[in-house]
Amino acid sequence: MPSTLRNSIRAAVAAEKTQAASASGASPSEIFGRDVFSMKVMRERLPKNVFARLEQTVAGGETLQESDADVVAGAMRDWAIERGATHYTHWFQPLTGATAEKHDAFLTPSPLGGGQIVSEFSGKMLIKGEPDASSFPSGGIRSTFEARGYTAWDPTSPAFLIANGSGKTLYIPCVFLSYTGESLDSKTPLLRALDAVSKQALRVLRLFGNTTAVKVNAMVGSEQEYFLVDRRYYNLRTDLQLSGRTVFGAKPCKGQELEDQYFGAISPRVIAFMTDVEERMLALGIPARTRHNEVAPGQYEIAPMFEAANIAVDHNMLTMQIMRNTAAEHGFACLLHEKPFAGINGSGKHNNWSLCDSDGNNLLDPGNTPRDNAQFLVFLAAVLRAVHKHAVALRLGVVGAGNDHRLGANEAPPAVLSVFLGDQLTEIVESMADGRSGKGKGGTFGGFMEIGVSSLPKLPMDSTDRNRTSPFAFTGNKFEFRAVGASQSIAPANIALSAAVACALDDIATDLEKEVKKGKNLNTAVQTLLSKLFKEHKPIIFNGNGYADEWQVEAKKRGLPNLKDTVSAVLKYSDKEVKEVFLRHAVLSERELLARQEVLLENYIKDVHVETKLTQVMGRSVILPAALRFAAETAAYSATAKQSGYPALSRYLSALNAKTEALLKALDALDAKHEELDATDGVRAKAVGARDKLLPLMAECREYADALEGIVDDAFWPLPKYNEMLWQH
Ligand code: ADP
Ligand code: MG
Repeated sequence: MPSTLRNSIRAAVAAEKTQAASASGASPSEIFGRDVFSMKVMRERLPKNVFARLEQTVAGGETLQESDADVVAGAMRDWAIERGATHYTHWFQPLTGATAEKHDAFLTPSPLGGGQIVSEFSGKMLIKGEPDASSFPSGGIRSTFEARGYTAWDPTSPAFLIANGSGKTLYIPCVFLSYTGESLDSKTPLLRALDAVSKQALRVLRLFGNTTAVKVNAMVGSEQEYFLVDRRYYNLRTDLQLSGRTVFGAKPCKGQELEDQYFGAISPRVIAFMTDVEERMLALGIPARTRHNEVAPGQYEIAPMFEAANIAVDHNMLTMQIMRNTAAEHGFACLLHEKPFAGINGSGKHNNWSLCDSDGNNLLDPGNTPRDNAQFLVFLAAVLRAVHKHAVALRLGVVGAGNDHRLGANEAPPAVLSVFLGDQLTEIVESMADGRSGKGKGGTFGGFMEIGVSSLPKLPMDSTDRNRTSPFAFTGNKFEFRAVGASQSIAPANIALSAAVACALDDIATDLEKEVKKGKNLNTAVQTLLSKLFKEHKPIIFNGNGYADEWQVEAKKRGLPNLKDTVSAVLKYSDKEVKEVFLRHAVLSERELLARQEVLLENYIKDVHVETKLTQVMGRSVILPAALRFAAETAAYSATAKQSGYPALSRYLSALNAKTEALLKALDALDAKHEELDATDGVRAKAVGARDKLLPLMAECREYADALEGIVDDAFWPLPKYNEMLWQH
């Protein structure tokens, strides 16, 4: 009687009760920011004048002087070493989409010998490091003879400590540039885009008479979805380990249809994991806030309190790392892939976004005074314009082979970008667009608020609804961009969003400045512009069901782009209108942009090729042998079934052979296509081929393999099944 490793593991998993959290149980206020070299720590440890200049650098984006950097570096090193740090690393975000680090010891034996130990951590090293960059993707920006890239500290993101083994390492958040100063990462364009949106937003604020704000920050809170599976199962699934998703696996007998998982009671084993994750987040100054069960079995969500976008990006990268590491300690694997399991919900990352001035005012908050309302409508118009005019640029912020399984597939949000505003706000926008008086449906907001111009309507305060099917929803005082994939860095989405909104605000400020200069009253100019903008961008508003097929038809009529997959979107990167979004405020240079297009295509090809190889190898060396062993076991019955006239049994046994044969044939076809594409020249052709040829052939292999899973004796089946992976805790 064959008994697979899988089946013995199943018994062990069933016996698993829970694992206690290792968190200290200290109160969040005691732990929060404990391991961060924060502004508070710097204020305490730096000379007053140095700290003042550093504060200015952080607020205004000026460069830190080298002499100051030396002082900061010294303080940072002492602080880290006092806390047990042995190493430091520049921590950066290359175009792989992951983070990168290379550790250096603080103390090294002196090259002069004599047992001397020297410290080599100077200001220069803090400001600038030179990792060997030749293996990072550059999209052709860097030729091998100038392979060195350099990393430079981003003082707007604080350094922090992470424990590893017996020691600790000081992490210094950095940008990553080529020798020629071109960006090789996602942080550099993010900082540029945030700067652009700040500058353009300030122009608008100045028009409204604001003289105090010095900066406008994009604020971001990202809700992170993920799956947990028992690590023992994970260890038997090479596909999950190497590609993040299962390339084989029949649907579970029980999926999410009963909706008993969403917001359900969290199991003790999962709570223990979450508790440890949260304590580690808090120690790094990441304000963990909400946690709950998500829609699919085995799926969860964690959300921090929102923060300035640059920090939020770094913190989300860290959160993912903490979750992966902590999961391993709890005997789990944390799956961040957008679609680890076919046929049940995938995981996304909602990017909650708003603009906040340096005086603490949320510019997307409707506000109480007439002036605030008019200003709010202008910023609202800017976002509508950004999403409508620059939808392709935004779509590019969420591309990736994994996310293609969510966007545009049978799961929301759709690949068509539209904005949900809720009925009342939509009515206001429409009435202004149509030049109507602003009487709402049923007179909901009949009376106008005085705003200098009598025809600007009073804004309803809580006009928002919940529409989970919208990719870009207004939720009271922020927008929620829901198309980001769970495994992705939120940097590209926020680069695109800030760049697009900066363009829209630029257009708006230019128009208003011109009108005011001509002597027009601001309110009249605003009124005229808003009517025009709302009329132009009304088609981007959609409050209905984004999952419905009719919406795709309607969206097409409205001329909204529907780029269903990564390759289609990335090929548009070099279109004139798309380029313009990034070039206009120098978020990317033309060379940087084209390099990114290349890297995104290369990343896509690599992802699909890994999945292809997994299908080939697991199909032949794991699934086929199981099917053949079972066929051998049952061979004797075949003859009997035929002879004795048992047609149903006969059909069952011949289905086994038929599916096995079909699987092998499909694998052969996949091999041939894979080889052909390997020999094809050019990333574009390779990417298109991967999408159009490899993915469908992989799906075909999967169809037969999954059918076999339902035929072959469970005791022979080597791969952990959806049933057990998803419903174990
Ligand atoms: P829901 O699931 O209802 O959307 P959550 O509480 O799970 O709400 O997540 C909302 C996220 O939005 C949190 O990260 C929160 O901090 C963030 N958020 C709230 N207000 C703002 C804002 N003004 N700007 C950006 N993000 C915000
Ligand atoms: Mg949300």
